[in-house]
Amino acid sequence: MGLTPMMRQYQEVKAAHQDALLMFRLGDFYELFFEDAVTASRELDITLTGRDAGEAGRIPMCGVPYHAVEQYLERLIDRGYRVAICEQVEDPKAAKGLVQREVVRIVTPGTALSKDTDHRFLAALVASSSSFGLAFVDVGTGEVLMGEADGGACADQLRLFAPIEIVVEKGAPAPNWLAAYSAQTEVLITERTNGGNRLIEEQYGVSSVSALGLAEQSDATKALALALTYIDETQKMKLRHLQDPAPLFEQTHLALNQTAIHHLELTATARDGQKKGSLLGLIDATVTAAGGRLLRSWLERPLCREADIVRRHDAVGYFVDDLILREEVRESLRGVHDLARLVARFAFGSGNPRDLLSLAHSLIKGQAVIDTLSVTEPPELLASLIDDLPDLLGLAATIEASIVDEPPVQTREGGIFRSGVDSELDRLRELQTSGRTWLRDLEQRERERTGIKSLKIGYNKVFGYYIEVSKANLGSVPEEYERRQTLTGAERFILPELKAREAEILSAEERAMAKEAELFQSFRDKVLAARTEIQTFADALAQIDVLQSLAHVASERRFVRPEIRGDVGIEIVGGRHPVVEELAKGQFVPNDTHLAPGDHIIVLTGPNMGGKSTYMRQTAIIVMLAQMGSFVPAESAVIGVVDQIFARIGAADDLGRGQSTFMVEMIELAQILRQSTGRSLVLLDEIGRGTSTYDGLSIAEAVLEELASRSEQPLTMFATHYHELIGFSERFPSVRNYSMAVEETADGITFLHTVVTRPSDKSYGIQVAKLAGLPPHVVERAQTLLAARESQSQASAMAAATSEVRESSLDSVSPAVTPVVAQASVQTPATATAPDAPALALFEGP
Ligand code: ADP
Repeated sequence: MGLTPMMRQYQEVKAAHQDALLMFRLGDFYELFFEDAVTASRELDITLTGRDAGEAGRIPMCGVPYHAVEQYLERLIDRGYRVAICEQVEDPKAAKGLVQREVVRIVTPGTALSKDTDHRFLAALVASSSSFGLAFVDVGTGEVLMGEADGGACADQLRLFAPIEIVVEKGAPAPNWLAAYSAQTEVLITERTNGGNRLIEEQYGVSSVSALGLAEQSDATKALALALTYIDETQKMKLRHLQDPAPLFEQTHLALNQTAIHHLELTATARDGQKKGSLLGLIDATVTAAGGRLLRSWLERPLCREADIVRRHDAVGYFVDDLILREEVRESLRGVHDLARLVARFAFGSGNPRDLLSLAHSLIKGQAVIDTLSVTEPPELLASLIDDLPDLLGLAATIEASIVDEPPVQTREGGIFRSGVDSELDRLRELQTSGRTWLRDLEQRERERTGIKSLKIGYNKVFGYYIEVSKANLGSVPEEYERRQTLTGAERFILPELKAREAEILSAEERAMAKEAELFQSFRDKVLAARTEIQTFADALAQIDVLQSLAHVASERRFVRPEIRGDVGIEIVGGRHPVVEELAKGQFVPNDTHLAPGDHIIVLTGPNMGGKSTYMRQTAIIVMLAQMGSFVPAESAVIGVVDQIFARIGAADDLGRGQSTFMVEMIELAQILRQSTGRSLVLLDEIGRGTSTYDGLSIAEAVLEELASRSEQPLTMFATHYHELIGFSERFPSVRNYSMAVEETADGITFLHTVVTRPSDKSYGIQVAKLAGLPPHVVERAQTLLAARESQSQASAMAAATSEVRESSLDSVSPAVTPVVAQASVQTPATATAPDAPALALFEGP
């Protein structure tokens, strides 16, 4: 096809970057052509035009000005595109014929610096016959994690880290669960050929990956190599700030099944996915961005080694006990900027003079935090954080002494450094100043010599320095003045001595700017040389921030220090759900939880809206908070360390994912039964409600039977509407029946939200319907129908009871209630409910 030479050049570059939008530098614009132009004009809302491309005729084109390109790039990668930036790599003036162009970087969602302070992960996944290798890199903070595990565990980590882009190996089939995962999230999947261990060795400057503690041929190492391959290829430079890889699948962390984080609304609400309204939103009193990120990761990955947890509690307790210390630390931390991100910016070559100064300020404020703590006698964890920290005050002092108080954002235009920093710079600046004085003197002299009072010296880019004389005074212009430019009201002249000096002044200015740029680069290098120390320092400050935040929240919200034990069992007195409590404005009813071997299953009944799921959630949240190192919302709590939490509470949100609620529920149930151990906490809410009553009941019953009778018995809370399951406690001594108390009066029911140690006597469905505003005649009709059903089932149940001995509660299944509780009829005004029912006391059976 007879394209113009430039379009042929474009086609060649494009052929090598099929999977990216190509931004092609033409003068002051980045242009996109063909399909790319159509896509970009739609996504960026910019006008689509055309360009003559030779024989191909007019082709679609659109463009963005080069100086505004960053904002457009951000929009494109936020929408999941990859963008290749093709620059002119030779000076167009010097070029013979077509200017040479090259792709200098590829901007992708997972490899670009973002303005967000949250983590933004790139993932790399490799598959072998037996397992998967998985690596995560956050280029914004330099954090790197890697490990290998089975598909399920990798999928859980992907959900947890929520990477924005995943790299897989070219030609190797991606596992099918990855397809399911990526269909649910808007993640970009990229295929790349693995560059191998050499890249890891180059990145970390080691001769063999084993120096980093990595196995040569492991899947984990391959995953890391793949991630680095991709970063290398897109950034076309080494990102020096990447940290040593941290292990991913540690046994030292409490495992949360994929849905637990979601169902417990730990970091985002189920309704709108916002942090506000979630547990994280409530307990985040960190004052630094890095502290905020770390708090989230502590919450998502609680500990499960007793000693580690206790160390954190000691540190939190230290801050709880000393308000003045805490306030002092908070105050200093407020001046600490995001050090990890600042280092990343320098590694990307984009840090500016203001970043440099804010790095210095942060180091100084950070040191103040350390100093404040050092004069006290902090407990072990805090002591280990502040001991042996690198001294970065020297670097900070050098920066502060060198950079002016209000530096420019630009690195190229000078004005960054104080005088006295560099003698060459001082000399060049002196030349500029003396040059300006000389100009002023010359102006004065010439005015006197010519008698032209309005004569002035000016400057423009084309003519340099000139002498300007108005039309009226032209008669007095001396002979040696050389005319250069005529304006409407004036003429401009030059003098040989003015030109001679001009060269000196201009070159001084240019050289000064170049000198400043060079000096700035040396500071960048200084920062990068200290990157590991800065990261260590930043990490210590982030931990201190999280610990003070936990203490701050504990004090503000009356949380208490839990006792952590090695044996199994949960004893919570006066436990509260912190988020519901916040909304309840003083009306929250605390409840106790007792789960221990021998008492390890709670069957929880009670009407809708009675508070069942709140009660279950609060138990899990208290355990989680305790194991992340936090104090807990309760009067007291003894927590035997839990290894996994499975939570399946409320499922309406699964609908959008293309699998039926019931199917999702059963998949998770299967997982829970397979993976839970005698140290796990399992929360199940209305298992089996997604299918017919009998199916659902039978499944629920079989699951309960399994949990109550197998050898590894997890601590289980089981909320149900199937009153038939109440009979279980008779067959299995470890099953306790609890219910949410309700007060029934002549005109309806009141939820007391108190957990009582006996089963609920009925479902109160009709009363709840009435509360919800169902028309009175419909409510009445429902009551009549229920009464009829009940008398019918009572009769048949009685017949059954006399005819056979009940072996299993399933034998007595009836559509309504079991004989045990059938005598409580709806018409009775106030049955023996909450007021005289015992509130749950620990160690007390029903
Ligand atoms: P269920 O799971 O039984 O349908 P929920 O746990 O969803 O009930 O609770 C319903 C509502 O009752 C909650 O949104 C909350 O407003 C209130 N609630 C629940 N537990 C308590 C409590 N302990 N104290 C005060 N209000 C509560």
